[in-house]
Formats: sequence, structure tokens, C-alpha cells
Amino acid sequence: MKELIDKLAETQSLTKDEIVLLLDNRTALLSEYLFEKSREVREKYYGKDVYIRGLIEFTNYCKNDCFYCGIRKSNKNTCRYRLTPEEIIECCQMGYDLGFRTFVLQGGEDSEYSDMKIIELIWLIKEKYSDCALTLSVGERTYETYAAFLGAGADRYLLRHETANPTHYHRLHPPKMSCEERKKNLHNLKKLGFQTGAGFMVGSPWQTTEYIAEDLLFLKDLQPEMVGIGPFLPHHDTPFAKMEKGSLELTLFLLGMLRLLLPKVLLPATTALGSIAPDGRERGLLAGANVVMPNLSPKSVREKYLLYDDKLSTGEEAAESKDALEAKIKSIGYNIVMSRGDALR
Ligand code: SAH
Repeated sequence: MKELIDKLAETQSLTKDEIVLLLDNRTALLSEYLFEKSREVREKYYGKDVYIRGLIEFTNYCKNDCFYCGIRKSNKNTCRYRLTPEEIIECCQMGYDLGFRTFVLQGGEDSEYSDMKIIELIWLIKEKYSDCALTLSVGERTYETYAAFLGAGADRYLLRHETANPTHYHRLHPPKMSCEERKKNLHNLKKLGFQTGAGFMVGSPWQTTEYIAEDLLFLKDLQPEMVGIGPFLPHHDTPFAKMEKGSLELTLFLLGMLRLLLPKVLLPATTALGSIAPDGRERGLLAGANVVMPNLSPKSVREKYLLYDDKLSTGEEAAESKDALEAKIKSIGYNIVMSRGDALR
């Protein structure tokens, strides 16, 4: 199996069969071999730097009904909230004062936040914080809307593809959502010139190794600047409440593989990874990740953006604990960098 890792490192590619073979035969020893290579590549491009982004979860209203997600429309037990532009600016200011130079606006697909309202929000933030990068993660919109977001000054867009396999996609989403549409949106974002982020959940219900191989090949083809992956974690008020959670170890292995497949990619050690194990975030960084996204949302709403049970929002996950995060990252030999942290092209 080591030959497959060598091949991946040398050619930045593997066939579908090779990916499946490698994943199905992974061992603790093989993981260590992979992480040595992935760390080497990460350090070649990014040194010991870890970029940090301030994540603002600005609305948990959502018109979609994804079966895995705690803020899905059908979940009547979610206490819904929506931050006003003024409250969002307060979050940015708090982040700016802490040194953050990237803000990520993430939310459910909230019809109240129309295209125009988002555009006004972009204007507002970019006018006040012109030295900061602004990332949007507000779901599926038309090509024209994405173009308008870009024109208004947004720099980056995160839209996980969730799974590249259409059959699997339909088992995770209601019939009106489509895998083709999701992929088309990602291609639109790339075409427009957004720094684009895709990604998927590891261990989502009915995921197979073959589907994961398809995810990796889809990402290789799309060439996103960012890839977000994290373990699937069940939420008690969703149809997937009783499903098994994803594996920490497989998530780490995939972070290592992604670093070799897309050497310059921005790869976050996600909240889900930090939530599944106390040292998940650090282990993600040691497997090839190079981004952390602490939470900048107002404390009063943090527990309401509950995508899955036991989602971390305190400790080093909270933006105001930046010093604690910095110390933890230092302890594994890396350094927080407070710049915009753009992708290397
Ligand atoms: N509405 C935006 C943001 C979605 S929330 C959008 O459509 O892009 C961000 C990500 O959280 C999702 O893309 C999904 O991959 C992840 N997520 C949602 N529910 C989850 C769960 N139960 N376990 C792990 N990750 C989950």
C-alpha cells in the first residue's frame, strides 16, 4: 500500500480502483506514513502557518430539508434566529479587534436574506473592512446571483458538494435537491473566479469507499481552492438521529490524501473534527490541514446553530479564546497567522 501513497505523492493522482484499495487497506502504520508525506507537502507550500477565519453563523432559518442537518426546515424544535446586519458588523468588529482578517458568513438558506440583502451585507462589510477577505456560505443560488455577490466584493464561497454520487446524494436529501445542480453551482463559482470551497461529510449514512473515491476524483477535477471535510455526526431531531457517526481516523486519513491530491489546497480542521475528539483539531493539522475557523457568532446564538449533537462552540472553538487556540497550535509546532490567508494558485 505504501507504493500507492508514493504514487499519490509523486503524481497527485490515483485511479478510482487505487483509491478504494488504499482506503480499504489502511492501517495505523500506513496512516503515519501518509501523514509524514502530507505534512511534508503542507510545509513545502505553507510552512508552519495555520490560517484562521472568523466564522459568523448569521441565520439558522433554512428552506432546505437535508436529512442529516439539525437546522433543516422540518425540525420544529430548533429555536430560529437571524442576526441583523448591525449584529453581524458587531461580530466582525470583535473579530477585527482580535486580529481576524477573514470573515466567513455561513447560514441556512434563509429566504428573508434575499440576494439583495446579502449584497448589501457584502457592501457593508467590505466598506468597513476593506483589508479583510469575505467568504460566503449561503447555499445554492443562480449564476447571476453568484456573479452579483462577486461584483459586490465577496472573495470566497464555500459550498460542500456533500457527495459526488447521485444515488447517494438522493439518500441524503429530499427529491427536489439534486447532485447535478449542486455540482453545476460549484462549477459556476469556479468559472466566475471565486476562491471556491467544496467538500463532504465522512461516514454519512450509506457512504461506501467507492463513493469516497468518487468524491476525491470530483474534487481533483473541480480543483477547488478549499476543501472542507468532517465526520458526519447525528442530530437527535433528524431522520438520521440513530445513524452511526463518521470515523475520526478515516477523516484524518482523507485529510492526508487530500493534501497530496491537491497540494496547495486550503484544508480546514473543521468544527466537526474538533467535536468528535478533544484532540481532533490538532490531529487534523498534523494530517495535512492548515486552516482553523473559530466561531465569532454572538454567544447567545451559538448553541442554536446546532447542525449535529455536541457541536463544539466553546473553548478553543470560540474566537475570543484565540490565545488558548494559539497556545495549542504552538504546542504541535505550528503558528497562527492572522492574514487574509488567500489560496496559493
Ligand atoms: N446552507 C449552507 C451551509 C450548510 S452548513 C450550504 O448549503 O452550504 C455547513 C455544512 O455542515 C454542510 O455543508 C454539511 O456538510 C455540514 N453538516 C450538516 N449537518 C451535519 C451533520 N449532521 N454532521 C456533520 N456535518 C454536517
